[in-house]
Amino acid sequence: MKKLGVYICTVLTITILLPTVIVKTFKFVPKGNTAKGESLELEEPVVIEEEIPVKTNKLYETIKIYDGKKEIVNEINIEDYVKGVVAAEMPAEFHMEALKAQAVAARTYAISRSIKYKDGHPNHKLAPLCDGIHCQAYLSLPKLKEIHGDSWIEKYWPKIEEAVNSTRNLGIFYNGEIIEPLYHSTSGGRTEDVQDVFAVEMPYLKSVTSPYEEEAPKFKSTITLTTEEFIGKIKHKYPDVNLTKENLHEKIKLIEKTLTGRVKKVAIDKIIIDGRELRELFSLNSTNFTISLDKRLNIIEIETYGSGHGVGMSQWGANGMAKHGSIFEEILKHYYTGVEIKELTFDN
Ligand SMILES: [Zn+2]
Repeated sequence: MKKLGVYICTVLTITILLPTVIVKTFKFVPKGNTAKGESLELEEPVVIEEEIPVKTNKLYETIKIYDGKKEIVNEINIEDYVKGVVAAEMPAEFHMEALKAQAVAARTYAISRSIKYKDGHPNHKLAPLCDGIHCQAYLSLPKLKEIHGDSWIEKYWPKIEEAVNSTRNLGIFYNGEIIEPLYHSTSGGRTEDVQDVFAVEMPYLKSVTSPYEEEAPKFKSTITLTTEEFIGKIKHKYPDVNLTKENLHEKIKLIEKTLTGRVKKVAIDKIIIDGRELRELFSLNSTNFTISLDKRLNIIEIETYGSGHGVGMSQWGANGMAKHGSIFEEILKHYYTGVEIKELTFDN
């Protein structure tokens, strides 16, 4: 019979997003290498300490960066450092205004960390920042040349320099204090409140809409498994659950979502796990996912929106806003609630 493929599609629509949770820990993760689409942030949380009030915005012109491979500390001019971060953290093909927003966020992040970890970061005691995605990725010009080749440098380095030079010395402030501007690759349509992700409160890291992300390679992704594969993975990690092909549709339930709809808690049979654990188990880009079971085809489809922790500026959203006419200040003020963009002064 010619049925129009209406099959029994059941179920489990687990919406969501995010990883909830890491109480008292915090990882900055700038979603390194957005361009290459790596994922990110779930490794090694960094302990977050109380915010240290910044009494003045007088700062140094150079910044100390720990080179994890060579195990040495380099002291780099802040503006040169920001160029290397923009190049490492955002695709150079992006719109100029998005690159400028990234430059200001990278500079602000570096300075706020340098103040907070003046005597060294607990994970790299020799310097407040490292050159990896643990802090924010940085690549020197020779390294960029090695990775991308001369023609890339010729085409994009002047663009990166312009983004950084034209925003020279600008930083992001909330109530007169420099902020810690988290950013990520793709939110999936709405960013996450930092409280729901890292269990800390920051008034400028609230959930906001993030339109125009559709071009992001990880805006939406789907993985397909057979029912057996799906059950096998879950039972490998949680051997005591009673899960079979027959009872699957009633044994997995969404318990709690974050305010933006990311998966916070899921029940599998009698145990309750974080959305973040399911994200790790199935290597999903974010906790903004839905799971559906097609009984007839015996397959499970997991559809994920966004990439990264979802907090702060979405890089693909920034590019989308820029293409729709927003300038870098508007982009930053959109993603960081209630902030001002101001000149930093240096203590010479
Ligand atoms: Zn680091």
